Amino acid sequence: MLRWSSHSAQVIIALVILVLGGTAEARELAAALAGEVRVVTSLAGRVANPRLPEGEVRVGGFGGPDALARWLTDHDVRAVVDATHPFAERIGTSAVTAAKKAGVPLLRLQRPGWQPQDGDDWRWVDTLDEAAGLVGTLGERAFLTSGRQGLAAFAGCTGTWFLARCVDPPEPPLPPKIEILLDRGPYPLAKEKALLSDYRIDVLVTKDSGGSMTAAKLVAARERGIPVVVVRRPPRPAAPAVADVTAALDWVRRTAAS
Ligand code: NAP
Repeated sequence: MLRWSSHSAQVIIALVILVLGGTAEARELAAALAGEVRVVTSLAGRVANPRLPEGEVRVGGFGGPDALARWLTDHDVRAVVDATHPFAERIGTSAVTAAKKAGVPLLRLQRPGWQPQDGDDWRWVDTLDEAAGLVGTLGERAFLTSGRQGLAAFAGCTGTWFLARCVDPPEPPLPPKIEILLDRGPYPLAKEKALLSDYRIDVLVTKDSGGSMTAAKLVAARERGIPVVVVRRPPRPAAPAVADVTAALDWVRRTAAS
């Protein structure tokens, strides 16, 4: 067992920690670990101009769980932190399978989901398709924050006007009546309130992403008294998990030193 000292820090710095990223938490963790271990953050490559984390970065899919397991072995990875978005179902599943196969410890860093408060009118659904079936019964002008890849599910919603916010321009299919707002969080409350008012939004659609960066829209919806369609998180395989960066950092340090 290694203890913390300048000598052990030098030993530990050679250890490779893979952070599966694409979230603010992944960037925070990489920044905190930089200088302590060799941290490699992996990004899917979906966003054209991503916010890059500190440390090393690799971009693109691994080619499935077996290929990821090989990558872990080939790069002598000491531990994996799956800090991907709670809706990134495939990589979350792949990481658990690959880590088991390669015999590498894995931790999931996943922010808690949002909880409704007094005054909220939330309608929970399991999928974006279900959200698409419901939205037209709740309002006529919807603010859609499901992300670029989620818009196709609403392509058949011909009776609803949508304001869709995404980081990069979306590809068809899209709903026929739609305005695209290209923007990147965090989104402050004053801006969200103005947006709901300016566009006369009467229903909000969101995934249960959790976290503070995109939560102000929920407060704005509550204050405006409009319903919110909330898509539940998809299931991911069981894995040791923590809810914040401090706990993940602690786990990495303990795992690296064991
Ligand atoms: P996904 O459906 O779970 O992943 C699809 C495939 O993309 C995976 O099978 C994997 O390819 C590759 N991939 C995903 N994340 C990767 C990563 N961090 N590093 C390397 N390869 C990765 O994921 P998604 O929902 O498309 O999300 C893609 C990325 O965007 C994730 O990293 C996630 O953290 C981030 N993100 C997603 C959302 C969301 O709402 N889904 C929101 C914000 C950020 P292989 O099978 O070839 O390895």
